[in-house]
Amino acid sequence: MMFQVVPIMWRSVRPSRIADMPAVVNTFWLRKGYEGLTFFGRILTPSQEMADCFNTGAKGDRVSAAMKNHEMIHLRQAQACHDSWTCFYLLYIWYWLKARCLTGRKVRRQLRHAAYLLNPFEMEAYGRMNDLGYLKRCEDGAREWREYARMSLQERFLRYKASHKL
Ligand SMILES: [Zn+2]
Repeated sequence: MMFQVVPIMWRSVRPSRIADMPAVVNTFWLRKGYEGLTFFGRILTPSQEMADCFNTGAKGDRVSAAMKNHEMIHLRQAQACHDSWTCFYLLYIWYWLKARCLTGRKVRRQLRHAAYLLNPFEMEAYGRMNDLGYLKRCEDGAREWREYARMSLQERFLRYKASHKL
C-alpha cells in the first residue's frame, strides 16, 4: 500500500493528455474521513465505496458528481502549471506551507484546516465543484487559483467567510 503510489508516479503522463482520472483505493495514504486526493492522474480514496462514488462521478448523484468535479479541477490546474504534475505539487506545497506559517491564531481559531482551505488551488476547486459546466469552460487549464494566490491570506479568509456565510 505504501509503495503502490510509485508506479502511478512513474507511469504518469502530462495532465493535458488525461481525459479522465480513475479512482483507486489506497488506505495507506488516504485515511478514513478523507474523500479523495488527486495523485498524478489518479484519485486515491480510502475505500472501495468511495472509489465507486468517484468512478460513477457525473453519472451518479449530485454529491459524487461534485466530488469528481473537484478532483478534475485539480487536473485542469495542473495543466495551467506548465502542464506538469511536479510543478503543480511543488506550488501546492508552497502555498500550503505559506498559509500554515502565516495564518494568524485568530483565523486558525475560526477556521479549522485553514492552510488547506485557504490554498488557492482548493479555493478554486471548492468554489467551482458544484458548477458541472466548469471543466468544459477551462479545457486548456483552470486559472482562477491565480487570482486567489495574489490575495493576502486575510483577503482569502474574508472571501471564504463570505461564500460560506461564516
Ligand atoms: Zn482539493
